[in-house]
Amino acid sequence: MKYRSLRQVHEDVFASRLSVEQLVADYLLQIQSHKHIHAFLEVFEHDALERARLLDLRIREGKPVGRLAGMIIGVKDNISIKGKAVTAASRILQGYTSVYNATVIERLLKEDAIIIGRLNCDEFAMGSSNENSALGRTLNPIDETRVPGGSSGGSAAAVAANMCLASLGSDTGGSIRQPAAFCGVVGLKPTYGRISRYGLLAYGSSFDQIGPITHTVEDAALLLEIMAGRDDKDATSSSRPVPRISNMTTALPPSRFGVPEDVLNNPSLQPDIKQALDNAIDRLRKQGHTVQTVSFPYLEYLVPTYYILSTAEAASNLSRYDGIHYGYRNTEAKTLEDVYKKSRSEGFGKEVKRRIMLGTFVLSSGYYEAYYTKAQQVRRLIRNATLDIFKSVDFILQPTTPGTAFPFGQRSGDPVRMYLEDIFTVQANLAGVPAISVPYGFDNENLPIGMQLMSPDFFESALLQAASLLESSADLQA
Ligand code: GLN
Repeated sequence: MKYRSLRQVHEDVFASRLSVEQLVADYLLQIQSHKHIHAFLEVFEHDALERARLLDLRIREGKPVGRLAGMIIGVKDNISIKGKAVTAASRILQGYTSVYNATVIERLLKEDAIIIGRLNCDEFAMGSSNENSALGRTLNPIDETRVPGGSSGGSAAAVAANMCLASLGSDTGGSIRQPAAFCGVVGLKPTYGRISRYGLLAYGSSFDQIGPITHTVEDAALLLEIMAGRDDKDATSSSRPVPRISNMTTALPPSRFGVPEDVLNNPSLQPDIKQALDNAIDRLRKQGHTVQTVSFPYLEYLVPTYYILSTAEAASNLSRYDGIHYGYRNTEAKTLEDVYKKSRSEGFGKEVKRRIMLGTFVLSSGYYEAYYTKAQQVRRLIRNATLDIFKSVDFILQPTTPGTAFPFGQRSGDPVRMYLEDIFTVQANLAGVPAISVPYGFDNENLPIGMQLMSPDFFESALLQAASLLESSADLQA
């Protein structure tokens, strides 16, 4: 499969060198031959081929087609697609079918995208390695002994292994960017409120954002543009104007990049990643931009604050899975309380239960002030400190993760170690600002490195231009 961007697909499709049906058939073959990666939970073979044939007909007849004609997309299995199962990789949603489309799905379909299947993830998007999927783990296609990252591990692995051209993920604390970094693809988390969350199974509602995973920054920009914008079905969606992709073709004017001092000197940073960061700094300077260190004094508070607030929100959001309304139910329970207890105990996996308990604890009487209220206050400080940085620089530059993809089993026994994996990604979610991970070379074991940029709220257009600059100066080989 040679296509790395929609532009390349269009060149062949509109010159009649390739039919969309053939394209879909090629992706289906690729999915088949990479079955062991276990990126897909379900493949919509019939629907995808059917839509492709109809599209080919319209193309042949010279009728207008949408901007995503020829875009073959996989969708993380926590985004609702009408008439299809949606499980969030949990047993508790066994047997549940979506009765409506998420707004993002509506918008993609309207532009003639083809949805090729549902992608594996950590259960309810809780995790950094895909090891929490109740339906089996996804392998990293770059090195199958390693995790693809999480929670959108299936989404990143599917794009990296060319099983679809692009995918959707969701990012509550890094779940788009970290797997993108581990699999060597681009992952964008938009500003909170930029894209409607209607139809996304809620994890932490004040953090969650849907975003694209692609090979190129250009495709991420296109998908953002199509999915973004006000949606009356999600009151938190913003009515800010959506940036035009055409902005991407103009070069980034001389800009100021800030690298947090505590990140630059962080002892947990893998030496090859530090080297990649130094390379990025050098190259940006040579290209006429300024790079300075900035101070962000809250690095050590990011992960604790995120895990207090996100578990509190998760405990509340996941209370709807009660064995009555959706999916799995224990059939031996005799009383209503028993139905709740047994269905939830059996339906949820270990990590999800841990988070529900943690969240319930931080919200409980006597502890609420000490944990939840305090964490809300710290979140405000984090947001303010982040915005303060943007008074002196246009972008924050830092690696997406402290290390590259780790082997299966290495962290799954130690939740705190796993949570610390999110140290560089959660800031954007706590502050609400947009962030992108771009492949930026490889470590000495040939594993991809992800470089991250953040910008102020709703500056995705400039963020994508800067990302495209990083993309063009990245090392292509180890
Ligand atoms: N790894 C983080 C967590 O487990 C982020 C997950 C996400 O962004 N959905 O919560």
